[in-house]
Amino acid sequence: MDCCRHVNPFRACAGLRGLGYLMVALVAAIAAVSYYAVVVYAWGPVLLGGGAHAAGAGAVLAAFHILLALILWCYLMVVFTDPGAVPENWRHDAEDSGDPALSTSEDQGSHPRYCSRCQNGKPPRCHHCSVCDRCVLKMDHHCVWVVNCVGARNYKYFLLFLVYTFLETVLDTLVLLPNFIEFFRDESRHSSSPGDIAILFLAFVLNLAFTLSLLCFIAMHMSLVTSNTTSIEVHERRKSVAWKYNVGWRRNLEQVFGTKKLFWFFPLYSTEDLRNIPALRGLEFPIRSDVVV
Ligand SMILES: [Zn+2]
Ligand SMILES: [Zn+2]
Repeated sequence: MDCCRHVNPFRACAGLRGLGYLMVALVAAIAAVSYYAVVVYAWGPVLLGGGAHAAGAGAVLAAFHILLALILWCYLMVVFTDPGAVPENWRHDAEDSGDPALSTSEDQGSHPRYCSRCQNGKPPRCHHCSVCDRCVLKMDHHCVWVVNCVGARNYKYFLLFLVYTFLETVLDTLVLLPNFIEFFRDESRHSSSPGDIAILFLAFVLNLAFTLSLLCFIAMHMSLVTSNTTSIEVHERRKSVAWKYNVGWRRNLEQVFGTKKLFWFFPLYSTEDLRNIPALRGLEFPIRSDVVV
């Protein structure tokens, strides 16, 4: 297990600025509103009151807190993990490994790339981020929600963050639905304070909105992962030509999640995977054997 290998504590100082501050505050506010509505207002009193629904309330609250812990874990890992920096004086290795499936050569007809801003070589799939002002290995995008770039070494953490947040918003929406329906009944308006009703309404609407938007976002990223394409490369690849990094959905998936199934669900990699899968380090990527490079 090697979860802290690429942790860069200086990201907190360098990245938490401008819009990033606002987004972090927004994430915290949404989490606080949801926590109050689900735990304090809706289901906590049911559990404490005992009775027929106490066991159900216990299950809801347990699921809520487990997902919340996983979200927090993944979120912190995306924020504080360096997505991948180019080693100083990096040079493209022009020599082919001999095995076309393991080749790390550059694009057909293109020269080894160079970043004039960083004054350094650019490995395959690396891009310069104008927000971070540096090159990022297998850059996917700069994410204002996590005030960090999403790249080779934290893409899995970002995906898990999306999936667990989606599951939490689905849970919140479902368990707040009975209270939300009550909201429209006249008698309920007298039993709750205006503040509680406002928080319940806000929590339900926000969670429903996030459920729907996250579903689209997750579907898009699953399609990218299974075809081994980054959000940037979608605009670069030509539809008519086979994508050279697409080495089959299983190997594509392993290049992001690793080979150990237990680790798929957590923002961790096994030491073995980090050693055996070069793509996880972000400098070398296997290329399809049927694509001429
Ligand atoms: Zn650069
Ligand atoms: Zn960036």
